[in-house]
Amino acid sequence: MLLFLLGSLVLLLAIMIFRTVQLSAREPDVEPSTPLPVNLDEATQRLSRAIQFKTVSQQDASMIDGDEFHKMHRFLAKAFPLVHEKLSRETVNHYSLLYRWEGKNPDLKPIMLTCHLDVVPVEPGTEADWDHPPFAGAITDEHIYGRGTMDVQSGVMAILEATEALLQQGYEPERTVYLGFGHDEEIDGEFGASEIGKLLQERGIEMEFLLDEGLPVVEELIEGIKSPVALVAVAEKGYLSLELSLTAEGGHSSVPQGTTSIARLGKALHRLENTPLPAKFDAHLTATFEAIGTGMPFYLRFVMANLWLFKGLLRRFLATIPATNAAIRTTTATTIFESGVKENLIPTLARAVVNFRIHPNDSVESVIAHVKKAIGDDAIKVEKLFGHIEPSPVSSITNTPYRQLSRAIREIFPEVAVAPSLMVGATDARHYTGISRNIYRFFPLRAEQSDLDRVHGTNERLSIQNYGEMIQFYARVIRNTTG
Ligand SMILES: [Zn+2]
Repeated sequence: MLLFLLGSLVLLLAIMIFRTVQLSAREPDVEPSTPLPVNLDEATQRLSRAIQFKTVSQQDASMIDGDEFHKMHRFLAKAFPLVHEKLSRETVNHYSLLYRWEGKNPDLKPIMLTCHLDVVPVEPGTEADWDHPPFAGAITDEHIYGRGTMDVQSGVMAILEATEALLQQGYEPERTVYLGFGHDEEIDGEFGASEIGKLLQERGIEMEFLLDEGLPVVEELIEGIKSPVALVAVAEKGYLSLELSLTAEGGHSSVPQGTTSIARLGKALHRLENTPLPAKFDAHLTATFEAIGTGMPFYLRFVMANLWLFKGLLRRFLATIPATNAAIRTTTATTIFESGVKENLIPTLARAVVNFRIHPNDSVESVIAHVKKAIGDDAIKVEKLFGHIEPSPVSSITNTPYRQLSRAIREIFPEVAVAPSLMVGATDARHYTGISRNIYRFFPLRAEQSDLDRVHGTNERLSIQNYGEMIQFYARVIRNTTG
């Protein structure tokens, strides 16, 4: 019996080690691509010019400086002569741009690359903290500085550079290529990408593949372990705010009776925060960890390759880190609590707002059902606030477009593992769900942990070498998906 047990154990261990070794070999080898001839110095100069336009999105959409967008449009026409000769360009809702590059085969569905023209403002009072002024487009030996170098005028410019270079080579795509540049992504894209999406839908166009900006190449996903991962977001979370309100007996505080509305609602909120929505280890999450595992040290690869055994442990561990917890479940955050007007008066009404970021495994309705069950108090009214959004559909990771995209990533970043992931914030991509089932969100930016604070922050900058990779990457994407 003991021998049998021991034998089984050895066999099990052997299988686990085999799976671990197999995991490292799972990513097929890709030949690094021959780079397209691009003069990186000149391209960097053009990016520097683009950074100088103050295409800033203020929270109040009416504060838009239309002149800056129009100046940028004119600059693009001059900077990319072939693009503007061979592609059609239309202006959508005054400031957004839509390009169309006719493909050779009208029977094939088109593809679309998108990014946005607007940038976030520089926080007043932080201007002096920048090593180079945020709208100067300063170029140093290694970097280009300025608002928009990471998010995401570099993307707009790299897409146009790639297109211009492909045209110079005489490249003719089989599929039609659309390039869409919205002008208000930083304030929800309601007037830019949303209008582009509607326009294309009215025209009855369905994209075979759509790539928007999104997650970067993270150089160090787990602190201390250098193992770069390209995170390709295949979905993005939804958004919901619920108002919880309760009316109870009020009165003078000298003669209190029963539980106050404040205490009762407080208790309900406490129960809700202690009953998180479940995290599910679905096929996508498993694929994420298997992909991440490929470049990791043996002991971590051992865990990632044997998720059938370690799932529960890993889930509990991920829940302890706020960033990964947000990636595996719908999050719950109480953001407003209001009650009471006078210190000696027991208020009748207590009200709270709880904000949820909905994981694609849940929906607005399932979250509401969960909340009602978790608080277990029928006297508390639960109501949706305006502006909720369902999570996006989840794009496939086994179809041809995803394979072509991962291939492009590994042709340009050969040392990188490609992992499907989830966008926790919102992007313009959600405005395009009506025109494509295959939507991916990835931006070919190499991001060190310390770089992430620069996005929307101070000293936003991009390495010139990385900018060169971006241009080559978009050229590979166009070739792989339309060749
Ligand atoms: Zn952005």
